[in-house]
Amino acid sequence: MPVTPARLEYDLKTIAKATATPGEGASRPTFSAAWAQAVEYVVGQARACGCQVRIDAGGNVHLRSAATATPVWLSGSHLDSVPHGGDFDGVLGVLAPLEVLRAAHEDDTDLPLELVIFAEEEGTTFGLGMLGSQAWTGRVDAQRLGCLRNESGRSYLESGAAYGVAPSRLEEDRLKAGDYRGFIELHIEQGPGLWKDGQPLALVTAINGRRQYNVALGGVANHAGATSMGDRRDALAGAAETIAAVEALPARLGPQAVATVGRIECQPNAVNVIASHVTFTIDLRAPRDEQLEQGDRELKRQLAAIAERRGLTLALEASEQLAATALDPAVCERLNAAAEAIGCTLPATASGALHDAAIVAPHVPTAMLFVASRDGISHNPAEFSRLEDIVLATRVLYGAVAGEGAAP
Ligand SMILES: [Zn+2]
Repeated sequence: MPVTPARLEYDLKTIAKATATPGEGASRPTFSAAWAQAVEYVVGQARACGCQVRIDAGGNVHLRSAATATPVWLSGSHLDSVPHGGDFDGVLGVLAPLEVLRAAHEDDTDLPLELVIFAEEEGTTFGLGMLGSQAWTGRVDAQRLGCLRNESGRSYLESGAAYGVAPSRLEEDRLKAGDYRGFIELHIEQGPGLWKDGQPLALVTAINGRRQYNVALGGVANHAGATSMGDRRDALAGAAETIAAVEALPARLGPQAVATVGRIECQPNAVNVIASHVTFTIDLRAPRDEQLEQGDRELKRQLAAIAERRGLTLALEASEQLAATALDPAVCERLNAAAEAIGCTLPATASGALHDAAIVAPHVPTAMLFVASRDGISHNPAEFSRLEDIVLATRVLYGAVAGEGAAP
C-alpha cells in the first residue's frame, strides 16, 4: 500500500499555488481561474492513473477507474476556498482519495472508489454553502441556482456553464444512492481539540445542524441630543440587547451548541442620530435537532419580547434550516477497523462546521474523518495540518475502501 508522503506534499504545494491572492492565502472562488487550475491538476493526476472524468449537471467532478463496476465507495471534498483561506480546508479531502487511487493503480489493484470534487462548498462565492452537493442531491433546483449570484452579478448557472453546470440535466443527473456503498469525507478539524490532545485523527459521528436567520428591527430616527432616554425607539440598542441574548442562548441548549451574530447593518449609521433600522444575522448550530428546535423557540420568544418592550418592529426570517446529521454507524465501524489495522485509535467527535457529508448523508451511508489542525485555525492562511497526520488519514481511507467483509 504505497501511500507516498512526498507525492501528497507536492500536491498540497501545487494546489496552494492555485490562488487569486499569491502570498496571501488561498483564494479560489468557485468557477474562477484559480479554482479551475486546482481542479485541472487533480483531474490530470487521476487521469494519469486510469480514471475517467464525469461532471454532473450540478458542476461536481467525479473521477473513477473505467474498469470499476458500481456500487463504489465515494470520497472527496472541495477545492473552493473562502477569500484568503488556508491550504488544507477541503483540499485534504480531495487529495487523500486521489492518493488512494494512485497507490492502488501502482499496486495494480482495482479499488471500488470514486473521487468527487464538490463545487461551491464554502458559500462565499454564491452566498449559499454546499451548493454542488445540494444540486446533486436535489436539495436546490435550477431556479434557485439561477438566482444565486457571485460578486460580478453572474448566477451559478451562468458562471458554471463553462464547467459542466447544465440545468436541463439536473433532474436526470442526480445522485443515485444505489451507485454508492458509502461516502467518506476527510477534513481538517477546524477546532483545536485534536491538536491540543496530541491526537492525529478523529472519527466524526455527528454533524451539527444549523439554523440561520435574518433579523430586522425598526425604530424611529431622532435627534441624539434632543430626544430623552425615555422617548426613544432605538433599533441599535434593541439589536445590542438581542445580540447579548443570542450569545447566552447556547449555554441552555448543550455543550456543543453555538450561536453567532456575524453581520450587522445600521441606518442611518450617524454619530448624532438614533438608529431607525438595524438588520443582522443569527447562526445557530447544535448536534441534535431537538436542541435546534428549542433554540428556535427561545429566539422567537426573546426577540419578540425585546422588540415589544422597546416599541420596535421586528421581522425575523429563517433563511436556512439544515438538520443535525448522525453519521452511519457501519461506515464509522469500517473506519475504526481500518485505523486499528494500522495501529491507530480514533476518538469520536461531532463536527461543529457543516460539510458536504451532511448533504450526502441522507442518501448514502456516510462518515467523516478529521485530521488535526494546528491550534484549530481555519479559513486563514495560517491553517496547517501535519503531513504525517494527512498520510495516516489517507492510509485509513485506503483500508476502509479496500476492507474485506460485507459492505455497509
Ligand atoms: Zn471545508
